[in-house]
Formats: sequence, structure tokens, C-alpha cells
Amino acid sequence: MEQKQFKAESKRLLDMMIHSIYTHKEIFLRELISNASDAIDKLYFKSLTDDKVGLAKDDFAIWISADKDSRTLKITDNGIGMTAEELENNLGTIANSGSLKFKTENKLDEDNQIIGQFGVGFYSAFMVAKKVTVITKAYGSDVAYRWESEGVDGYTISEDDKASVGTEIILELLDDTDDEKYGEFLDTYRLKGLITKYSDYIRFPIKMEVTHSRPVEQSEEDKEAGKSPEFEEYIEIETLNSMVPLWKKSKSELKEEDYKHFYTEKFYDYNEPLKYSHVVNEGVPSYNALLYIPSKAPYDFYSKEFEKGLQLYSNGVLIMDKCADLLPDYFCFVKGLVDSEDLSLNISREMLQHDRQLKVIAKSIEKTVSSELKKMLKNDRENYEKFWNEFGVQLKFGVYSGYGMNKDKLQDLLLFTSSQGKLVTLDEYVTAMPEDQKFIYYATGESVARIEQLPQTELVKDKGFEILYLTDNVDEFALKMLMNYKEKEFKNVSSDDLGIENTEKQEEVKAKEEENADMLKSMADFLGESVSKVVLSKRLKSHPVCISSEGEITLEMEKVLNSMPGDQKVKAQRVLEINPDHEIFGKLTAVSSDSEKLGKYAKLLYTQALLIEGMPVENPVEFSNLICELM
Ligand code: ADP
Repeated sequence: MEQKQFKAESKRLLDMMIHSIYTHKEIFLRELISNASDAIDKLYFKSLTDDKVGLAKDDFAIWISADKDSRTLKITDNGIGMTAEELENNLGTIANSGSLKFKTENKLDEDNQIIGQFGVGFYSAFMVAKKVTVITKAYGSDVAYRWESEGVDGYTISEDDKASVGTEIILELLDDTDDEKYGEFLDTYRLKGLITKYSDYIRFPIKMEVTHSRPVEQSEEDKEAGKSPEFEEYIEIETLNSMVPLWKKSKSELKEEDYKHFYTEKFYDYNEPLKYSHVVNEGVPSYNALLYIPSKAPYDFYSKEFEKGLQLYSNGVLIMDKCADLLPDYFCFVKGLVDSEDLSLNISREMLQHDRQLKVIAKSIEKTVSSELKKMLKNDRENYEKFWNEFGVQLKFGVYSGYGMNKDKLQDLLLFTSSQGKLVTLDEYVTAMPEDQKFIYYATGESVARIEQLPQTELVKDKGFEILYLTDNVDEFALKMLMNYKEKEFKNVSSDDLGIENTEKQEEVKAKEEENADMLKSMADFLGESVSKVVLSKRLKSHPVCISSEGEITLEMEKVLNSMPGDQKVKAQRVLEINPDHEIFGKLTAVSSDSEKLGKYAKLLYTQALLIEGMPVENPVEFSNLICELM
């Protein structure tokens, strides 16, 4: 029999296929079952108008059988089959287009137009098999054919005596190696697992003969004698797939429990989801989706191991377990799946991410998640706050990242702890602002308790203005990105001009500052690099000192940026503020002529301010000695 060669390009593609396109060898089964299902689809469709097919819907099935002795796995369908010509065209040429332009494997990855021309799922069988045999009889044909191949070397086609219409694919599995145990694909349990994982929702039953054992009925005598029963084996035909996916059922058929149960089973979460949404989109591309917001962040959520993504199905067949491109990073907490009939299945189903349709679906999913969150915020505040506590930081990152390109979409989903002791949205904050309040005030620190004690908050609080307490590292960066909300600018309570200082007081402080300019200057000199200047404070009421910053980088940003890996450290320009109404000011002016003492006081006050701010003390030993000395 003549051995035919695969076309030259096919050879390379096959080689690539086996070694690099798919990352998981186990997907060969999904590919072969999908092909079988497609073939059945075609014949089933014919049977609707053609009595000669002679099969009813329930007769159609895919059969799996494994034989450990011969190390063979068989996938059989009673679908449309292939003629000799089809065998040649479909399985003899991997890439049957003459206009092949691809040059490198990478090129394949980029150029979706080219990839779209190939159907190569069948060849994934060679990832696990040393020999593949296809015995097939096409509907309407009298002759059956046998196609055999041991991989890149080529294939043979000969006649066969298969009686019924359909296709049988026989894989002779590769020998086990230290790393790869191909024999596992003969194991009933493993096969069942793969079918539930990848092909559960194939519309036709996937059947397998499964051997069980049961105790043999005992005679009364044996029972009385207490003999242990003997066991016999029996064979049962099991259907391994559930066939109708939940997301394809009509919403009216389904109850809340169905969705929740599905979630806990499918996504291995003990906790019920906080919210779910069943999307049926009949537009183009059409798709169904089930989306869930978990009630708890997974244990690895804030680690590098966490992978975002939704399961992606094409017409009920699982294509990808975590399709990252379906979710923007700021919605990475969403779990669920998408099923569409309109995705172009191409060279590798794992390369789908470059698909244009997929991008359209991703956009539409993003909109759904966003509007579900808005609804929850409006109608179910308690659950929204739970959600916020688990995942809110992601949304703040979303505002900040990409140079703020998503800030408009996300700003109304943000919550902040406020000085009123509750979580507020920016809209709630602005709506509650008294008429004479110009800014949205915020204060930063490592905890709410810590911020509450900051001297800088005094003046704003005294005016009765609400303050947003920012405790997450990303917070201030996110606000900087927002710049303003409903035309109200954000203002750090530590910043220079809070817009509420009364002018009389300002004049008074200014006059005092001029009077004591020399003293303040020499204090700043003593502190050297540590501060950019020493001033008299317009904001402090009861506290003696505080530290504020001037310029772009605030103290909080300095803390955050310097805690990140990397050698480049930043430094905020610190300003030491002294309360001119505090006793301490009198003490300072009294010693102002004693430059040594003034220097010591300056250092003491500066360190005190650092402590209040929660910043590290630059020289703890010197500080401790100074205190003892002055006592
Ligand atoms: P794809 O399924 O992506 O088109 P494959 O390489 O998996 O690519 O299959 C190539 C072609 O071979 C299919 O399009 C189909 O026409 C044919 N084929 C594969 N398996 C079967 C089968 N079980 N029954 C009938 N035709 C099949």
C-alpha cells in the first residue's frame, strides 16, 4: 500500500502541534469528542428532513472505550462519517490552504487571519498516541475507509468493511515515560473526569461501558454460616455528560439555589456567592454567561499565584479554563463562564484570546459587571459593603492604573471610610457638603484610629467638614489620578492651603512669622536635610507641632513608594509646623538667643512630629539622649 506524505507545511505544523501548541496533552479527548459531536450534528440535521437516515435523536451517541491490554482508546460516533476524498482532504492536509504565509510559530500567534483557516484539533491525538487509526463510513456511501498514521511520516488510506455509518478513532497510546504516563488515559476514572471537565455539555450522550462489581446472592445456609459473599463483575453503560448546561436553560426554569449550587460545585468555593447574574445575549456575537461575585476573596487572591479569568465555552465545549481576556484587572474577582456559538475556532483553541469576537464579549461582560455592582450599591448596601471590604482595593487600583483611563467608569463604585464613622461614596460626600466647603478633604495614615489622632485634621473637623480616611497604600494615588469629583478638588488635610483658614488669623500668624523669621530659619538650619522649612502653623489648635509636605510627593506617598522594591527612594519635602498659640512657642522664643538649645529643641520637636505622623524616627539614640538631657 502506498504511503502518502503529509504536505510539507503540514509536516511542520504537525510537529509543532505535537510539541508546542497545546500546553495540556489531556485536551486531545475534548478535541476528538467535539469532532464526533460535530459529525453527529451534521447527520442529525439531515435526519430531520431525510427519512433514509433511519436514526432518531436518541439514537445518536458518542462511545468511549479503553483496552488496557492493547493500550488503545477508542472514540466512536454515529455521525456523518467521511468519504475517501474527505479523509484525504481533512486528515491528509493539516493546512489545506495554498496561500500559507506563516513563517514562524510566533507569526501564527499574531496573525489571526491565517490561523482562522486551519482546523487542526484532530492532530492533537498525536500528543498521546504513537498510532492513530480512523475507520469511517460516510452517510450515503457503500464503502468504508481506514486511515492510518504514525505521525509525521505520513499516512495510508485503504478500504475497510465497517458496516454502519459513522467514525471510529483508535489511538494506540505512547509508551509511558518517567515524566508522562499516557496509560492514565485508559483509566475509567480519569476518562470520566476529563469528560466532566471538558465535554460535560456536549449535546449528545457520551457513553462508556463501566465495569462494576456486586456481591453474589448467597444461599440461606451460607448466610447462616456467616460466610462472606462472593463478588461478581457486571457491566453498566453510563452516560458521562450532563448534556444541558445550566446557562442554556431558561431563567424561569431556574431557582436561586440552582445558581448557587452550581457555583459552589463548579468553582470549589465553600461560601455562597454574594451575587450572580445570568446573561443571555442574543446580539452579535451571541453568548450566554454566568457571572458570580464571590463573598470571600480566595486565599490566594492577593498572591502572585492568583489567575483571573472566566471559563470559555464554544457551543457547550470547554475551550479554556481561565480566559483572562474576558475580564479587566479591576474586575478580576469575578468568577463564571461564557458560552458562545460565534467564536471562530482556530488553530489552537488556547490562542483564542486574539479573537475579535472575544473582545466584543469582554466589553459587554465588563458593562454587565459594572451595572450589577452599581445596582448592588444602590439597592443592597449591606452586601455592597461586604463586597467592598473583600475586593474594593482592586477598584482603586483600577482607577489608578493605565494613567487613569478607567477612572470615569469606576469612580462611582468607590467607598471611603469617613470621619463620620461610616463608608461613603464620593457622591454622598459631595452631596452632604455644606455650601461654604470648597474641597473634598482627605487624610492618610495606616489605620483609622491613627488618622483620627492626626493634628492636621483638627481645623477641618472644627469646621464640621467631613474627612475621607485613606488607609490603603493605593488610596492617595487613586485620588491623585481622579484629581476632582463633580468639580470638587481633593485636598489633603496636611496640605498648605486648606481654604478654610480665617484671614484675620492668617494675618496674625504671618506677622508672627516675620517677627521670628531668624529663629525659624536657624531651626531649619539645625534640621538640615530633614526639612525644607520651619513655619508657624495656621491649622494647629491644641497640638504643638506637626509635619506637612510641600510639592507633589506627600508623606504618605513617600512611605508607599519607599516600601516598594527598587533602589530609588523618594523623599517628600517636609515642613515642620509649630503652633504659635501653644506654650511651646513661648519656650522657643525664650531660648532663641541660645543657639545650642534652640537646635536641640528643634530636633526634639521634629522627632515628636515624626512620631505622631507614624514615620520612622531618624536617630532614636539622639532623641532619647535629648529627652534625658532636657529633663
Ligand atoms: P476542526 O474540527 O477544527 O475543523 P479537525 O482537525 O479536528 O479540525 O478536523 C478536521 C476535519 O475532519 C473536520 O472539520 C471534519 O470535517 C473531519 N472530521 C474530524 N473528525 C471527524 C469525525 N469524527 N467524523 C466526521 N468528520 C470528522
